[in-house]
Amino acid sequence: MTKKMLKTVVAALAVALPVSLCACSVVVDGTDVTDYTGMQYTTYDFFNTNTTVSCYLPAEDTDKLKSLWDGEIRDALDKISSLLSQDGEKSDVKAFNRAQAGATLKIDAVTYEVLSLAKQAYADTDGAFNPALALSVDLWGFSTRFNEADYSPSQPYDREDYKTQLPDEEYVEAFLSLSDFSETEIYAEDDGYYITKSASVAEVGGVVYTQQLDLSGIGKGYAADVVAEILRKNGFVFGYVDIGASSMSLMKNARKEAGTELGKWTVSVLSPTESGKYYFKAYVKDASLATSGNYQQYYEIGDRRYSHIIDPHTGEPYISDVLTASVFGENAALCDAYSTALCVLGSEKAIALDSELQGYTYTVAVETDQGFKVLSNADGKLV
Ligand code: ADP
Ligand code: MG
Repeated sequence: MTKKMLKTVVAALAVALPVSLCACSVVVDGTDVTDYTGMQYTTYDFFNTNTTVSCYLPAEDTDKLKSLWDGEIRDALDKISSLLSQDGEKSDVKAFNRAQAGATLKIDAVTYEVLSLAKQAYADTDGAFNPALALSVDLWGFSTRFNEADYSPSQPYDREDYKTQLPDEEYVEAFLSLSDFSETEIYAEDDGYYITKSASVAEVGGVVYTQQLDLSGIGKGYAADVVAEILRKNGFVFGYVDIGASSMSLMKNARKEAGTELGKWTVSVLSPTESGKYYFKAYVKDASLATSGNYQQYYEIGDRRYSHIIDPHTGEPYISDVLTASVFGENAALCDAYSTALCVLGSEKAIALDSELQGYTYTVAVETDQGFKVLSNADGKLV
């Protein structure tokens, strides 16, 4: 997976005098950070992408941070990515996808929490965010097995070269008919958490298919929040968590950056049309954000672009005027899910969603004859 968003994270202190000669101190939200060392960070490889966990902290806390990196934080990332992956041995998603229609399975509390947030996002976006589109994602060549360099057809619907050959319409229709996420139920009992799979089946060429789940549009956001929460719980409040540069949980910034107030980060969001350029900046602290779009994972056949986000109304890669969407708000899992949905919905419905996504601000780049224009419900809140 490729990077979608870069951030400008380090800026020099405004006061350049030696500390011993200067009575000034830098206080951010009640904490004196004058003696905080530079940014410390570590990276992981989960969710098929880079995860960066960065903190500013006093020198004496370095060992404590390192033991969290190697312990609780690594364990949490490992657990979440294993449970939600398409093919891991411990994956709840894999167990669901292999189960018979109508089956009930016990799931981990983490999977239940992610699915609860997915249900909320599904409701909030009129079904535009829909994790039950896994078969369609796979049909169009965007599930994880296509990341492998040695892809070769293994399913009845696979093509030799999926980037030049379109799938059979019969499969598009069949997989669409299996994507009603409201048919799958999740619930909590005294002894744990359960999921009951949609009873729908569809047959093509003598093979019976059942509903499958894909939580990659929400899992990275969920993980970003979990890691930020572990840091906060242990007293680290200056830093950020960045998963794949598309899902982030930002805490506070200990360094003053130009153009904004103490404590805030400058987040620069990549242009959907000009490589290496940014199309807007936002200044935020103690907030999560996510970006989705059609310009990182896609192929083109004729004059149509086929990207990795599927429209639940058609079962095909989405076509809308939204090239990319960024969402800012409290919960990174919801930011992640909403940003995917805003692309599918298109600008008119995206802006109309303002009343549903209370407390979440978003910006969409909308295609025009002259490139793109920027629409937002942020109204100055990102400055
Ligand atoms: P990324 O995972 O690259 O950050 P997104 O957050 O936008 O990008 O998630 C897109 C992924 O979610 C796709 O690669 C696919 O696995 C899955 N997906 C595709 N269409 C939808 C949809 N309409 N709703 C929910 N998940 C989707
Ligand atoms: Mg997303």
